[in-house]
Amino acid sequence: MKKLLMAALVLGLAAPQSVYAKPSTTSPVIITIDPGHGGKEEGCHVTYQDQKYYEKNMNLKIALAMRDELNTYNNVKVYMTRTTDKTVSLAARVKKAKATHSDLFFCIHNNYPGDAQSYTNGSCAITPRTVYHKELGKASQALATLTLENLEENIGFENHGLLLRTSSKRRYPNGAKANYYYVTRMCNSYGIVNALIEHGFLTDDDDMEKLTNDETLKQIGISDATSVASYYGLDKKDSTEESEPEGSRVRFLNRYLMLKDGKYYYVSTKEKLLKGWRMISGSRYYFTSNGALIGRHKIGKYYYYFYNNGKMAKRKYITTASYRYYYNKNGRCIKRIKRGV
Ligand SMILES: [Zn+2]
Repeated sequence: MKKLLMAALVLGLAAPQSVYAKPSTTSPVIITIDPGHGGKEEGCHVTYQDQKYYEKNMNLKIALAMRDELNTYNNVKVYMTRTTDKTVSLAARVKKAKATHSDLFFCIHNNYPGDAQSYTNGSCAITPRTVYHKELGKASQALATLTLENLEENIGFENHGLLLRTSSKRRYPNGAKANYYYVTRMCNSYGIVNALIEHGFLTDDDDMEKLTNDETLKQIGISDATSVASYYGLDKKDSTEESEPEGSRVRFLNRYLMLKDGKYYYVSTKEKLLKGWRMISGSRYYFTSNGALIGRHKIGKYYYYFYNNGKMAKRKYITTASYRYYYNKNGRCIKRIKRGV
């Protein structure tokens, strides 16, 4: 599907504008965040380093951090299905998303080995299939894919992609096999874009190192918020894009974006220089030992464009003396048009 869309863009055909990807200039994007389980429904639980851990508590911590981070953006309204440790039925969760006219139902879980998947670590996302409300399915899958990519990049969860399990009995009104999971199926029926993210496994040591650390849980929530914000093209309330003074440091979590001698560097609190692709507060950068890349650069198979503040261009035409280049939502240059005669 992606390939077809890409081909359409290369051929210069108009990209289909999904009604599920709202431009930021219209009414606010409404998001319902759903921390899985709660109260009597504990989700999975394990004993790790002599302490008992419950999935429901991890889910809530991630969700609250995600809400707080999303509230630092313009043009967004966030609802929660729970903000404390209480029991909420699945039906009530989905009804809340419907009653608030949510554009997105974002469901936060953590995992335990089972029949649904063959792997026993890392992240996956449950989304609608594209058999009923096709555009909604595509939008949900794109948002979930971005979320998983950012989790891998920001937190280090292995990305296992989408999990599109179908029910053996239930069908959508058009006869297509329905999704297995209740919230996925119901949101799809109501026309709400949705993603259920299984962040990590409570039975995997690497994942548990992250999931038992409150600061990391907060970073996971911020990563998810950043994914949603970049999917909907939201802007930060206190955007300081142009005017960072020379020698300044801006702190993001436990890292700094540092401007030194006209170049941007990304540094850990231990003053270690961080290199390669990095996602900072909703924007992508590429850092080398000589600072963030600026201008047009080839990285791997594709060309990318970086503004003077190091931020990667996406969904943008950039014009040079001889060519117009189009950089897609992943920042990849997929179109080049010769200018003039
Ligand atoms: Zn769960």
